[in-house]
Amino acid sequence: MAAKGYVEVAVEVCKGCGLCVTVCPVKCLDIKMDDTNSYGLHYSHQTADTCIACTNCAIMCPDAAITVYRKKKEA
Ligand code: SF4
Ligand code: SF4
Repeated sequence: MAAKGYVEVAVEVCKGCGLCVTVCPVKCLDIKMDDTNSYGLHYSHQTADTCIACTNCAIMCPDAAITVYRKKKEA
């Protein structure tokens, strides 16, 4: 499946609850276990270039930490 989007996670806002990971239909999010934000919390990040910009993760996030971007079609 061709990638259509990507996400940015506001690392300092994310609390690592993992809800976004569970609702991503293409499983391209995960909690980064080898790093923490300044609050000492693990945070979510995109792990593969398969995002379809469905916005499930942004809608689900209780802290509005995710912004979804659509990629422009290549000419
Ligand atoms: S926008 Fe959809 S496909 Fe992309 S990371 Fe979020 S839940 Fe996954
Ligand atoms: S749902 Fe929001 S707060 Fe929870 S892990 Fe995902 S980005 Fe972080």
